[in-house]
Amino acid sequence: LPADPVREARIRELSRAHVLTSWVAQKAVDPLPLAGGEGSWFWDYQGRRFLDFTSQLVNVNIGYQHPRLTEAIQEAAARITTVAPSFYEESRAEAAAAIAELAPAGMSKVFFTNGGAEGNENAIRMARVHTGRHKVLAAYRSYHGATAGAIALTGEARRWGSEPSIPGVVHFWGPHLYRSEFHATTEQEESERALAHLRHTVEAEGPHLVAAIILETVVGSNGVIPPPAGYLEGVRALCDEHGIMLILDEVMCGFGRAGTWFALDHWGVRPDLIVFAKGVNSGYVPLGGVVLSDEIAATFDERPYPGGLTYSGHALATASAAAAIRIMREERIVENSAEVGERTLGPGLRDLLGRHEIVGDVRGLATFWAVELVADRQTREPLAADKVKAVQQACVSRGLWPLVMGNRVHMVPPCVITHEEAKEGVAMLDEALAEVSA
Ligand code: PLP
Repeated sequence: LPADPVREARIRELSRAHVLTSWVAQKAVDPLPLAGGEGSWFWDYQGRRFLDFTSQLVNVNIGYQHPRLTEAIQEAAARITTVAPSFYEESRAEAAAAIAELAPAGMSKVFFTNGGAEGNENAIRMARVHTGRHKVLAAYRSYHGATAGAIALTGEARRWGSEPSIPGVVHFWGPHLYRSEFHATTEQEESERALAHLRHTVEAEGPHLVAAIILETVVGSNGVIPPPAGYLEGVRALCDEHGIMLILDEVMCGFGRAGTWFALDHWGVRPDLIVFAKGVNSGYVPLGGVVLSDEIAATFDERPYPGGLTYSGHALATASAAAAIRIMREERIVENSAEVGERTLGPGLRDLLGRHEIVGDVRGLATFWAVELVADRQTREPLAADKVKAVQQACVSRGLWPLVMGNRVHMVPPCVITHEEAKEGVAMLDEALAEVSA
């Protein structure tokens, strides 16, 4: 890989002067200019290659520059690049049909957006119009996006800078045994107590006023937390009891990340609305959307849907989604995610628990893992920020690019990662952990 310091310097200079970077104080960061990528690797302008265990923002499930996918986008661009939602269009029709086919039975219509946040905005709009109710219950330890409604749903610090946010959103605690709000000691206790707490929250808010409960099927950026057995089924039953819509946010956990097309496939629960984005086309062109239950879709047979976007079902975006799904199916990429997780990545990461005192918990599935770093295994006090940073830097210096969220290292490589690359990534993290102690 040829180094190109002149080009790198110009990108840094222009970016510093003109690009406002998300979430951070601009003077506090100095992002790496990224030059290119292929498969599970990307490289910079200094001639360095990195094994990408972030999949960018957990979205490049198919890996960088998949030749069949870039070709499909080029073909679509040669046909027609953009068509308003008020027309029917072939790519949009094909993508909607392909996505609906992956969803549980009785969910056959798709509304397209440009990303996950807009997907959640439209899902709560659909639930509100369909039920005629306005409250939405969302979990603490969740991220649902950064537009007005989606950030209101978000149950963590990223919401604080946007408050006061939209009215009608109430937060509750979801299950998380490692940091239980319910003093539970087993997964079963955690599941039961989290369900009792949710029931009490619904009752205290007035079940007849609650339009929807929204959950990430597997909590993503707040810690990779799969739901304990019985939890999703219990939430579904509670929703049914009160006519509440269940929205599952599959933006991060969908399309192979959890080793299945939708993460909800693991638990066999049919929600009323599924929100997707990211892995649907691996972000090659911005795309998100909502899959509607036939009951909710029927509401909008009779009355107008009160929402829309210039780019709802954008031709390049939907062409890339239809192609990505086809490629993922033909190349068994979802199966690969499950197999690498089960045979290599999961066992390798779990092994770190026995090897490093600062590893407090390892959890996840398929290509979706969190390694939680602690100062003390007994108290579970999070490892200090400077030490987490030292682990991150030790990874980067070895050529591994991990996703650090708070005191956790999220290990979320592209779903196309090979067993060998997974081993290599775990080995680099292992060495990095050995350099840092509590
Ligand atoms: N929902 C979840 C679970 C996410 O992880 C994200 C993004 O990280 C979003 C929604 C928001 O998606 P977007 O950034 O495409 O708006």
